[in-house]
Amino acid sequence: MGLSENTEEYLEILYLLEEEGKKVAKINEISVSLDIAPPSAVEMLKKMETNGLVNYEARVGISLTKKGRAKARQIIRNHRLAERLLTDILDMKIDEEAICGMEHHISEEIADAVCTSLNHPRKCPHGKDVPKGKCCQI
Ligand SMILES: [Zn+2]
Ligand SMILES: [Zn+2]
Repeated sequence: MGLSENTEEYLEILYLLEEEGKKVAKINEISVSLDIAPPSAVEMLKKMETNGLVNYEARVGISLTKKGRAKARQIIRNHRLAERLLTDILDMKIDEEAICGMEHHISEEIADAVCTSLNHPRKCPHGKDVPKGKCCQI
C-alpha cells in the first residue's frame, strides 16, 4: 500500500510516543522529532486525518487511529528487524540512516522471512519490543 515515506515517518513518531506512554501527541513534539516547521506538520497531519490514519483534535493533540497504528507497527517492525538483521546475521554495526531507508521498503512477506530466519526475535538490539508478525503466531 502506497503511503509516502514522509507519512510513514509521522506514523513512526506517533508510535514511539505511544510506547513512551503518550497516547496523544502535541504538534510541537512531532515537529521537533521530525525537525519540521509546525505549520508544515499541521498541514501533513490534517491530510493524514483525511486518510483515516490519525485523529486530530485542536488543542488536544494527535493520536493514531486503528488503521494508522497497524501501519506504524509494520514500519517499526521493519526497523527493528532490520537492526537485528544487521547485528545478528551480517555482523555489522547499526547504521541508523540505512535502517531508516530500509524500513519503508520491506514488504510484509520479506519482514516475515527475515523474522523467521532470526527465530522471531522479541527485542531489538536496543531492548525495544519487535512487534509480532503473522509468522510469529504459529
Ligand atoms: Zn532498536
Ligand atoms: Zn516472526
